[in-house]
Amino acid sequence: MYLGKLLRLRHTLAFRLTVWYAGIFILSSFGGFLVFYLMNISLIQEATDQELLNERTEFATLLKSQGIDAVKTAAQLEAESEGVDRMFYRVLTLSGKLLCTSDMSSWGNLAVDSATLQGLSGGTGYLLETMAMPEHQYDTRILYALIGPETVLQIGLSLEENAQFLKKFQRLFIVIIAAIAVFAGLIGWFLARRAVLGVEDVTRTARHISEGALEKRVPVKSRGDEIEQLATTFNSMLDRIQTLVIGMREMTDNIAHDLKTPITRVRGVAEMTLTTGKSIEDYRGMAANTIEECDRLLQMIRTMLDISEAEAGVVKLDIEETDICQVICEACELFEPIAEDKGIDIVHRLPPTCLIRADTQRLQRMIANLLDNALKYTEREGTVSIAANGDRHQILISVHDTGIGISKDDLPHIFDRFYRCDLSRSEPGVGLGLSLALAIARAHGGNITAESCVGKGSTFTISLPRAPLSH
Ligand code: ADP
Repeated sequence: MYLGKLLRLRHTLAFRLTVWYAGIFILSSFGGFLVFYLMNISLIQEATDQELLNERTEFATLLKSQGIDAVKTAAQLEAESEGVDRMFYRVLTLSGKLLCTSDMSSWGNLAVDSATLQGLSGGTGYLLETMAMPEHQYDTRILYALIGPETVLQIGLSLEENAQFLKKFQRLFIVIIAAIAVFAGLIGWFLARRAVLGVEDVTRTARHISEGALEKRVPVKSRGDEIEQLATTFNSMLDRIQTLVIGMREMTDNIAHDLKTPITRVRGVAEMTLTTGKSIEDYRGMAANTIEECDRLLQMIRTMLDISEAEAGVVKLDIEETDICQVICEACELFEPIAEDKGIDIVHRLPPTCLIRADTQRLQRMIANLLDNALKYTEREGTVSIAANGDRHQILISVHDTGIGISKDDLPHIFDRFYRCDLSRSEPGVGLGLSLALAIARAHGGNITAESCVGKGSTFTISLPRAPLSH
């Protein structure tokens, strides 16, 4: 079971981040140590060479001041004090004749190359070389140096100490790299876990939501990092989805409700005619009633489809240059007979022209809906006034009436589909006119706002950009 868990862990982002982090950390530490190690090797070698060259200076001074016998004695004594298996001293003539030697029992028969000795006369007067001795496990550093005109000093120094030191260094190096690997792994795992924790929150929330908890949100920790941005974006996407889902639920409820009433009515009339209808006239009446109700239903369904299309942005606007004043005048003329019937005055205050790039037919529909409402919800002898004005960027059209008004509680909902205020229930309508008007305004990149006072009247203001945004 644990093995399975471990194998699954292999594919996680946290694991991969940890491996990367630890890998980079270990490699850079390794690089740093390697440079340090190589520098140490060269420093140790320099120190060894310097030690041998100091000996040469001392012996040269001794030869000059006290003669060859003192040099011979000093060579013996030095070798004994340093350890005869660690160092050897030999004094030779330039032709290779051995003048004196320390105890060479642990160094074997060390031949002297006459070419090397001859080579000393020119240049620096000394030569350093590293040799592998069959009797010794470690290499030996050998100095040949002229200490007098014909006298050569040969010193051999076992490099065992240096090798031991470097071995210790290597062991320490391995221990430290192992510790760094563990440390880097732990730190890497901690950092990676911290980094992906936010992603896990998002995943967990998404899982809960897919199980049905649409109200769940990702906790946002104010860290200001990418994960916070992801959480905030994810939450606002969820808000939007939730609003849409609630809207759709409400709309389905409303549709079911609004279709139920007329269908029940049609069915009732049909049933009644079937059971009590006697003459052909009764059946004609039923057919006419059915057609009328069906037309109403079809009109409602068409309007709903128009709203959905406009809201979803799939509607293709037929954009052209339009004079909004002309559209308003035509709408006023269209509604004049209804206004006259109710004794309502339609007043318009318009500039001579007001050009805009828009879909003329949809503008007509939007303005007609607002005018229709204004006339519908205004008592006899009232006034409906419509005005238009604009600047370089946008045009404002206001439709004002002295009608029944809208209460403060209803005002925020009047643009919702199927919403009807209690005050206006006596008037015909299904509650889709304002939703459609707003959807058309928004499809043009504009908006509609409403202000109202119960018993005094309402004002609807349409704002439209001179040219729609994306068409
Ligand atoms: P309806 O078909 O009911 O008129 P609308 O979507 O056009 O549907 O309007 C929604 C509701 O807003 C109306 O039922 C009405 O209560 C209210 N309303 C709209 N315009 C006015 C207005 N000018 N005066 C008063 N109430 C209004």
